[in-house]
Amino acid sequence: MQLQIESVCSHAALESCVICSHPFQPSLARVVLYINEQAQGDLCPTCLAQGASYLRTQVQTMPQSDSFVDRISHHAA
Ligand SMILES: [Zn+2]
Repeated sequence: MQLQIESVCSHAALESCVICSHPFQPSLARVVLYINEQAQGDLCPTCLAQGASYLRTQVQTMPQSDSFVDRISHHAA
């Protein structure tokens, strides 16, 4: 599990959070969740604010996360 911060173009559309499915408007940067080097989707500011341990717990419930929960970026801390 990795998080990657990507820049957002000025007219970004609403995104749906990969964790909570809540729609949100990306601001200056978006944070994309990667599992097994595959982009899973964007994380909303609310989920990011919960911290790395929360995100790890949520990802562990995702079926594709089987053995990829051992690593998380400090960007989410
Ligand atoms: Zn969320």
